Amino acid sequence: MFVDSHCHLDFPDLAAREDAVLAAMAANRVGHALCVSVKLEDFPRVLALAERHANLFASVGVHPDNDDVEEPDDARLGTLADHPKVVAIGETGLDYHWQKDAPEWQRARFRTHIRAARACGKPLIIHTRSAAADTLRLMREEDAAGAGGVMHCFTETREVAEAALDLGFYISFSGIVTFRNAAELKAVAQYVPLDRLLIETDAPYLAPVPHRGKTNEPAWVVHVAEEIARLRNEPLEHIAAATTENFFRLFRHARRS
Ligand SMILES: [Zn+2]
Ligand SMILES: [Zn+2]
Repeated sequence: MFVDSHCHLDFPDLAAREDAVLAAMAANRVGHALCVSVKLEDFPRVLALAERHANLFASVGVHPDNDDVEEPDDARLGTLADHPKVVAIGETGLDYHWQKDAPEWQRARFRTHIRAARACGKPLIIHTRSAAADTLRLMREEDAAGAGGVMHCFTETREVAEAALDLGFYISFSGIVTFRNAAELKAVAQYVPLDRLLIETDAPYLAPVPHRGKTNEPAWVVHVAEEIARLRNEPLEHIAAATTENFFRLFRHARRS
């Protein structure tokens, strides 16, 4: 069985076909998926998915790309995270690709999430884009290692992976690892220790080969696992078993259904 460690099933394209998305997961042996929040306004819909389906889990957080949304404080995140199906804080982090002026509010929001995660004992889902140095610096300054978590949709260098691993973090690969032009990332996927590796879709984005360009969905996480198995010269079943075990070790509040 496989786990999609990061998807957005509340987004319109996927929410409109909820039953079909769940059926395709089952048909492809994708046993569980983590539905990740990007803003508090949408959190009730993310949580409702996890409440409707035993094999879905939720996180709570505000994505660094979202300005003009409710700004969370630690107490609010802690209150919302106090639910048995909320297994993580995030997604949070820094994104200087879309916010090119690297605004201070992104760093303040990231610090808030790290503190909330430490306080409530739930791990972090960290998004980082064009901001690796600041992401790692804030993780160290706020003791993100005390909460643990995952660097999701990893696209950084081996050195950044090494620094995150040193902080006790897991590394999650998305469909990007299946892209022909991702040579450096493929090398990182060979390097990360098997017991720190996760797989994800980030659906509806980033559909893996051979579905590139379509609306992604959790069933297709299998293609990410296949590529990692090929790169590491390991049987697919080893990658499936290890990434599933890693998921439930990291997100220890998630119950297998
Ligand atoms: Zn992200
Ligand atoms: Zn995401």
